[in-house]
Amino acid sequence: MIQRDGCNTSLWQDSVDDYRPVSKADYSTLYDVVIAGGGITGITTALLMQNAGLKCLVLEANSLCFGTTGGTTAHINTLLDVPYSTIEKKFSKEKAKLVADSVKEAVATIKKHIGKYDIDCDFEETTATLFAKTDKQKDELDKISQATSDAGIANEFVKKISIPVKFLKAMKVDGQAKFNPVRYVYALADEFEKAGGVIVQECRVVGADETENVEIQTSKGKYKGRFLVYATHIPPGVNLLHFRCVPQRSYAMAIKLKEDKYPGDLLYDMYDPYHYYRTQEIDGEKYFIVGGEDHKTAHEENQEYCLLKLESHVRKYFDVEEIAYKWSSQYYESPDGLPYIGQLPGHEKIYVATGYGGNGMPYSTVSALLLTRMLTNEDSPYRNLYDPNRLKPVASFSSFISHNVDVVKQFAGRIFSGEQMHQLAELATGEGKIVEFEDEKIAIYKDEQGKVHALSPICPHAGCEVKWNNAELTWDCPCHGSRFSYDGSVMNGPTTKDLSKISLRELVNKE
Ligand SMILES: Cc1cc2nc3c(=O)[nH]c(=O)nc-3n(C[C@H](O)[C@H](O)[C@H](O)COP(=O)(O)OP(=O)(O)OC[C@H]3O[C@@H](n4cnc5c(N)ncnc54)[C@H](O)[C@@H]3O)c2cc1C
Repeated sequence: MIQRDGCNTSLWQDSVDDYRPVSKADYSTLYDVVIAGGGITGITTALLMQNAGLKCLVLEANSLCFGTTGGTTAHINTLLDVPYSTIEKKFSKEKAKLVADSVKEAVATIKKHIGKYDIDCDFEETTATLFAKTDKQKDELDKISQATSDAGIANEFVKKISIPVKFLKAMKVDGQAKFNPVRYVYALADEFEKAGGVIVQECRVVGADETENVEIQTSKGKYKGRFLVYATHIPPGVNLLHFRCVPQRSYAMAIKLKEDKYPGDLLYDMYDPYHYYRTQEIDGEKYFIVGGEDHKTAHEENQEYCLLKLESHVRKYFDVEEIAYKWSSQYYESPDGLPYIGQLPGHEKIYVATGYGGNGMPYSTVSALLLTRMLTNEDSPYRNLYDPNRLKPVASFSSFISHNVDVVKQFAGRIFSGEQMHQLAELATGEGKIVEFEDEKIAIYKDEQGKVHALSPICPHAGCEVKWNNAELTWDCPCHGSRFSYDGSVMNGPTTKDLSKISLRELVNKE
């Protein structure tokens, strides 16, 4: 089983063994492109660039698919979460069509890879059904159907849907697909290494200096590249993009049904947040995957309750034999609904791909294709469409950075007395919370062995206060989505640093 950035096991984690790179990195080599991040974006980008003649190095902070690719539900859509009617309104009809063209190319590229490399990842082409349950949703569906057709994606209204949920109107779209994302990424990683690419795991990128080339500082030393691509889901460090991309948490479960009535297509209701449904077969076993209950990261007090709400939704409509897996994961939404793919604002040789919302399966390949074209000096109609520099600068940006550096310094080296922390006595094993005394806040968690882990709750990225996630046993930052294990070690960015540990020597001695 592979690791992921949460304590719950997703359906995919069990389906592969750890990836063991065979290639070896070299500190003295000037790579053409260094790619930070070994999820679906990083590995697809690496393979396409290596095949285009660029010498590539992938640096992954943990192990391949440790991030959201290991916690996705892997619907491969051209029917996007942000409907074409909204894209049309925010941009134009022409741009909505360009978006559709780009995701169609991405889906075709995924299919091509699976054929070319003979990848065993249970890939299936299918349809998607979007269904309305209220009159308001019905009106919305009419607009979505029209805009989807205008964008060049055929659709039709249907009288029946494949799950036992009542609906008023439903729209069916061809040209969608599903697969096991982790098996797909592992196979691409293998092909990347066969093509001469290099992968290093357990290697976190912590900084980069742009000079003539890019010098990349990592937890394992310095590497050099002509270009750096942040395929880290959100770029590390502090950048304008962190003001724009909103981290969101979504919940999923993989269910065994009592009867063999697994739907073959992908389905979505139209609530906000919406529920999403599909079936995946893994090694001959069918699982019905249901997701939903999304919220802004760390804006829900009780994440276990979100899983319970999802479970009660599932049990209301389906005959459940067993809930085999349940998990949650994080994604990033951009304010205008389109991803940011291209040069990182303020940088010349550093590129980024982020803000996919819930459509990272197609958008990761859109990114890989576009970034490869950019770095091989090929033109692309999507360059301006997804340009991260379409952002307007934020006025308070520089004061924001200096303020936050101060906040982080305040906590360094402090030792708190256990006696004063009477609130600890109320902490149950497995519980985490923020306690306050002497005008200071402390993030504490009592593990299953009764050991208390005490941390500064100040996120080292931008100084926001982290919140406990009781479903994944992590500290999550509500501002920009940095996440930490209960012992403070960083799980995912934008921060590259751990939460500061606070010594509870006195308390531990007393116990
Ligand atoms: C519950 C859920 C369901 C979803 N379902 C769908 C779906 O059905 N269809 C769809 O299209 N999309 C879906 N999405 C979105 C999709 O899963 C993501 O957009 C996609 O997986 C992102 O892939 P990525 O490679 O960009 O990021 P990740 O998979 O997060 O990979 C980033 C990698 O970078 C590494 N990393 C981070 N920081 C550093 C650093 N400083 N140095 C080196 N490495 C670093 C991480 O360890 C990680 O492995 C879903 C998301 C969620 C949360």
